[in-house]
Amino acid sequence: MKSVCVYCGSSDGAKPLYAEAARAFGRALVQADLALVYGGGKVGLMGVIADTVMAEGGRAIGVIPELLVNKEVGHNGLTELHVVPDMHHRKKMMADLSDAFVAMPGGAGTLEELFEVYTWAQLGYHQKPVALLNIDGFYDPLIALLKHTVEEGFMRQTYFDILQVDADPVELIDKLQRYQPPANDKWAIKRDAV
Ligand code: AMP
Repeated sequence: MKSVCVYCGSSDGAKPLYAEAARAFGRALVQADLALVYGGGKVGLMGVIADTVMAEGGRAIGVIPELLVNKEVGHNGLTELHVVPDMHHRKKMMADLSDAFVAMPGGAGTLEELFEVYTWAQLGYHQKPVALLNIDGFYDPLIALLKHTVEEGFMRQTYFDILQVDADPVELIDKLQRYQPPANDKWAIKRDAV
């Protein structure tokens, strides 16, 4: 594993502990010799983690659509900043450049990006780990909803289990490195059941 894609808020969140955890995760990535791939902005937790990775001597690769270069303040102190035509190019490039995906706390944008790569894993488009850095239980309500979808028969336990969760950045990176994808994609399992 060489690089980790981090999805996170373009805001700082309501408590200082979110930014503290973003700094801790940035340091852990550098210590594990992993490059950061992220949305390329300077604002919110995005800016905090990128600044930390650069300050610690690591590699940070940003991918930002033209429309957002000014709004999210494209970071010009990165190892690489790719300015792409639109959001679809951004997400594709971030996914192609990364060996794992981690969501830190964030808003609708973070959730959208997380669910895209999570569902791609479920469909077998990639075999890379998808994870939540569950800072201060931020993702507990989402985890509860996903458990509910399993209990109500809308998702298999196997796909719930794809999602790696930890509150500690070093432990989470360890889980990413040890991850084994499920043997079959969602449709292969359904075919076997017929
Ligand atoms: P947020 O979590 O809403 O603060 O957004 C975090 C990041 O997600 C920002 O860089 C947004 O540009 C990005 N984002 C917002 N909406 C989308 C979307 N539909 N697809 C991909 N990225 C998005």
